[in-house]
Amino acid sequence: MALAAKAAGRDPASVQLVAVSKQQPQDRILAMLATDQRVFGENRVQEAESRWAGQPRRSELELRLIGPLQTNKVREALALFDVIETLDRPKLAEALASEVQKRGRSPRLYIQINTGEEPQKAGVVPAGSDDFIQACRRDWGLAIEGLMCIPPEAEPPGLHFALLARIAARNGITALSMGMSGDFETAIRFGATSVRVGSALFGGRAPGQAALSGSGPT
Ligand SMILES: *Cc1c(COP(=O)(O)O)cnc(C)c1O
Repeated sequence: MALAAKAAGRDPASVQLVAVSKQQPQDRILAMLATDQRVFGENRVQEAESRWAGQPRRSELELRLIGPLQTNKVREALALFDVIETLDRPKLAEALASEVQKRGRSPRLYIQINTGEEPQKAGVVPAGSDDFIQACRRDWGLAIEGLMCIPPEAEPPGLHFALLARIAARNGITALSMGMSGDFETAIRFGATSVRVGSALFGGRAPGQAALSGSGPT
């Protein structure tokens, strides 16, 4: 990451590593906690709860939800996560806004953009993104910290990262969550402020535990 940042003329400290701990065994998580890595990404609310809710060092950690969020899980998600990266539809914005009002405090929010317009993938299509960002701010009073995308597996990711950066820039958004194990260097070149890395950091995930559809490749 530092080399990629330097090659792009960026300060390495301007890119955060989100360690994607989904489906990883406890010993690898503990080994990671023994380093100074404190930001972790999970794609399922229940799995994350069982892994992190009882963690003695929970208060030192930043947990990010990077998988789809169902409206009936919003309360649980807000109780656990510091950042939600997958806001992608009006119904969810409404549910989040209502829960935020009850709790008197909001998680940091990212909107997921479906840059490849893949039907099986979550996210707002690019053409609808300006309107959705505006509606989140105006109609639901939600502060949007950043945008997130998962490029199609079969395409070079650079164009998708560039598109995400353009949508963010024209909406006054500076945080970009993009790049995974296979493409984080490219993402950093295109301006990622956080990269979500799982297998390159922890090793392969347990076979047979496929990720939820729409949450990216396993
Ligand atoms: C699993 C996942 C990642 C991490 O993928 P790796 O290829 O293991 O780095 C990143 N982002 C999302 C949304 C994921 O679901």
